[in-house]
Amino acid sequence: MSHSSRQAPALRVFLPPAHARHDPDSVIGSGAAARPYFERPTRIDALLRAVTAAGLQAEAPRDHGLAPIEALHEEGYLRFLASAYDAWRAEPGFASDPVVRPTAFAVRPLHRKPSSVVGLAGWYLAGHGAPLLQHSWSAAVASAHAAVEAADTVLAGARQAYALTRPPGHHAHADLAGGFCFLNNAAIAAQRLRDGGVARVGLLDIDVHHGNGTQAIFYEREDVHVVSVHGDPAGLYPFYAGYADETGAAAGAGRNLNLPLPPGATDKAWLDAVERGLEALRRPGLPDVLVLSLGFDAQAGDPTANLAVTAEGFRGAGRRIADLGLPTVIIQEGGYLIEKLEANLTAFLQGFLSARA
Ligand SMILES: [Zn+2]
Repeated sequence: MSHSSRQAPALRVFLPPAHARHDPDSVIGSGAAARPYFERPTRIDALLRAVTAAGLQAEAPRDHGLAPIEALHEEGYLRFLASAYDAWRAEPGFASDPVVRPTAFAVRPLHRKPSSVVGLAGWYLAGHGAPLLQHSWSAAVASAHAAVEAADTVLAGARQAYALTRPPGHHAHADLAGGFCFLNNAAIAAQRLRDGGVARVGLLDIDVHHGNGTQAIFYEREDVHVVSVHGDPAGLYPFYAGYADETGAAAGAGRNLNLPLPPGATDKAWLDAVERGLEALRRPGLPDVLVLSLGFDAQAGDPTANLAVTAEGFRGAGRRIADLGLPTVIIQEGGYLIEKLEANLTAFLQGFLSARA
């Protein structure tokens, strides 16, 4: 690769420029009783340093409109996300409240969909981890567009592309936000690939939290095979899904694999699970394209999780995933120990790109 500077970059990177305007911690993270909102704009700054250090350049995605998002998410949910902030501020007594936060949630026995924005907030937002601010919707749409652009880049013949998506996506269902996620970027990319003519998509999720939204979206589908390596949800978000006995249903039976790991799992156990996941994607025959939900929150000390993976683990994962030999759309998910993000992405890219050279 002596003339690499004159060739197309080994990896095109797409960064949604609007992401930083979605910053819940700036409005809800203060006060003695407040819990910090870990999904912050500075995460992207750290990841971007690794991109630059790898000799890559981030590009803004084009505006792809709402069609690729509507291909997957429910219409009423999208209307809510787009309009809730203004409707909330118009509610009596809420004119100065800068955050759409449910006062009640539509939990198990409560299943009647209301019409008011205050009621809908608890219908469409699954927890306090998905507060809507003035610019959350535009940030989520831009993030999804980065995923679409990465999928289109692979559809056009590139071997790999990376969407530096923020807010992340894998906890978002077709009609439910949660866990820092509003639009499911990885699922939108997978659907974009399908609509672009890819017959079979493999989706590997190595974020430490189970990708419950992704699982739900594809649970009864045969065309997108979902594999997730994550911390045991018995003690970790998203708590209510991600168990090993969830294996898909209907046409998707046997096409969903969960590989939960106990607290404290280190590089070896985590990489063994990644390897098992990749092995499952090889059977009964390789998918045509891989979508990778890439999180760095399996890192030891991440404030939202409980595994003990290091940069060497992410390097090994990059190498193993590259060895699958598939065109790959990489979608950024979590990773909240910000001081480790640059090293973790650097190690992942070194492992991944060196195995592709
Ligand atoms: Zn996560």
